[in-house]
Amino acid sequence: MTVITTTQPEAPELDQSGPGRQADTDTLLKLYIFDCGKIDSVTAEEFGFKAGEIATEMTTPCYLVVHPRGALLWDTGEIPDSEIAVDGAPTRKRTFTSSRKLTDQLQEVGYSPDNIDFLAFSHYHNDHVANANLFSGSTWLVQRAEHEAMFDPSPDFERFGPVTPDQKFFCELKNSETILIENCDHDVFGDGRVIIKFTPGHTAGHQSLFLDLDETGPVLITGDMYHYYNEVNRPADFVNHVSNPLTTLSRQKIEAFSKEVGAELWIPHDIVEAPKFRLAPEYYR
Ligand SMILES: [Zn+2]
Repeated sequence: MTVITTTQPEAPELDQSGPGRQADTDTLLKLYIFDCGKIDSVTAEEFGFKAGEIATEMTTPCYLVVHPRGALLWDTGEIPDSEIAVDGAPTRKRTFTSSRKLTDQLQEVGYSPDNIDFLAFSHYHNDHVANANLFSGSTWLVQRAEHEAMFDPSPDFERFGPVTPDQKFFCELKNSETILIENCDHDVFGDGRVIIKFTPGHTAGHQSLFLDLDETGPVLITGDMYHYYNEVNRPADFVNHVSNPLTTLSRQKIEAFSKEVGAELWIPHDIVEAPKFRLAPEYYR
């Protein structure tokens, strides 16, 4: 593993190689959203709501950010591609259901694991990392606290791993070229258009993604800091946040930041809002 520890990133070299890259040289910034399945059997009570106040299903999208300096994949789905039926029939695993492989959706827009320069997750829970090992050749962007929770014994580890069988989904990243972010924000391409925001609480090193899109405007993909829009401007109260008070602080920070820069909050798991988003091969720019 080559580790570059960073609090202030160097802008990566401009690299125009690769078929997907070639096709995208005319654009400053593009965002694709992939359908990586749904989760059911959610209860309102586990989020501090009463039955009927929030939906009992969630969506699990993945995102591809295409910048002239490289491509960043954000989250990798809830069921590994190798376990998803080839005929497009829904594949069910516990409370997860998915009918589309992430790699097929990437291919449709000119990408494969070989030309994904950067990989990052909002966090390491199993509905976000199912295909992580496919991208072990990419440079992995991860907060130091999250890396420790994933690979070293810690209180967070006792709760969510390492005994979880799902660790097998990301075990190969241990040897990936890694940019270890020192529990802070990180400007991925050095131009302020794609910024990883440190938003701990759901996990120790949970992060969100700020994008400054030309036509769409600024957006903030909030990971699992929220699961539903009803949670915005509320204190966190979810059984699976490693810390509710820390999540509340991250929410307050993000709500203030989004107000300041005029960014729209995009909450990936919110199934009620999901239909308003255009899925790949369509894109946002
Ligand atoms: Zn999640």
